[in-house]
Amino acid sequence: MGEIVSVDRPARHSTGLEPLRAQFPVLAQAVNGAPLAYLDNAATTQTPLPVQDAMRRFEQHDRANIHRGVHALSQRATDAFEQARNDLKRFVGAGAEHELVFTSGTTEALNLVAHGLSTSGAAPAVIQPGDEIIVSGLEHHANLVPWQQAARRRGATLRILRPDAQGRLHPEDLAQLLTPRTRVFAVTACANATGERPPFEALLALAAEAGAFTVLDAAQSVAHAVPGLSALDCDFMAFSGHKMYGPMGTGVLVGRRGALERLEPLRYGGDMVAWVSATEASFAELPLRLEGGTPNVSGAVGLAAAAAFIDQTGRALIDAHLSALRAHAAAGLAGLPGVTVLSAETGASAIVSFVAEGVHPHDIGTLLDEQGIAVRTGHHCAQPLLDHLGLGPTTRASFALYNTHAEVERLLAGVSHARKLLR
Ligand code: PMP
Repeated sequence: MGEIVSVDRPARHSTGLEPLRAQFPVLAQAVNGAPLAYLDNAATTQTPLPVQDAMRRFEQHDRANIHRGVHALSQRATDAFEQARNDLKRFVGAGAEHELVFTSGTTEALNLVAHGLSTSGAAPAVIQPGDEIIVSGLEHHANLVPWQQAARRRGATLRILRPDAQGRLHPEDLAQLLTPRTRVFAVTACANATGERPPFEALLALAAEAGAFTVLDAAQSVAHAVPGLSALDCDFMAFSGHKMYGPMGTGVLVGRRGALERLEPLRYGGDMVAWVSATEASFAELPLRLEGGTPNVSGAVGLAAAAAFIDQTGRALIDAHLSALRAHAAAGLAGLPGVTVLSAETGASAIVSFVAEGVHPHDIGTLLDEQGIAVRTGHHCAQPLLDHLGLGPTTRASFALYNTHAEVERLLAGVSHARKLLR
């Protein structure tokens, strides 16, 4: 495995990443006549060869439906799926009190929680009329809209933990919002629109102490700063495979067994039932109870391979590298006239979001694309946060372990050029 040596060499011409980059064939292409600089990793990262190989191996040798088969391939597929579950539990620091459910991504995982706590089944729904749900103001729509719907469905009240003018969250503000009626508190481990890393450990602890179910959206942190589940007051944590060098359409809901047991399933059908009569059914134990239907088995295998890839590369090295790239980009952008960097002075990592006075982000993104630089523009599915900060749409560059300081320099030159051209 290649080393991430640019941490030691923040000088602009890092060459130590070549062996690592060679694991990602998609990077070795020209786009619009220039080498691709892929800086849209908060939307989706690329997958390395070991992840592609693990999935191809499964597809070529072991592919079969799981859990119900007596034949060899079905048993091998079941073993591969359950091994992936165990590997991923270890990856997030799950303990004996935790269980892991495969989903199609963070969105499905968070919908499963919001739906599961607000729907009655054999037991009454956890969220009752008059209860309160608190969601942070940093959230992706995937960790806001399901709670809006849950509140509406149950006649509960949705409260927002508002960030300050710099986009930071404060535990003392949460303490003010918590009441004996607070059933749920949901927060991100890293804001996708700004890169802000809130003090989620303290926030979750406060909410848990107040008796609320706690939900952590780890979609943006799991690739470089995996929250250690056993050290957190966290009932439910969600993340997506495609943001951590794994396959698209894969994801995880992992959490406390006792909390997961309170969820009414989102999908009824095969694999999640214990027995079925013509008029009634009883459900299987966790985790199958929440995994109705045939899962994405090769995806789960690929996701576990992605976790192994992260660990072999080194979590601390990846995190340090992404922080260095972010600091380089944020300082360079803030030095350009008329450019404002979001979460400029906070502990943000991996993501840099900015606005340039008088220039629309879409135009910046288009001009960067003409130079082979891929960034994302718009509201990044976090419109309430950007409205709150008074900034509107932004341009966002986001980094992965294969990005280089030379690519950051290209970004800075490209933004500077775009600004001069468009103003
Ligand atoms: N939460 C955050 C913080 C995200 O950044 C994203 C994806 N942009 C999601 C949730 C939703 O993830 P997915 O689309 O993979 O379900």
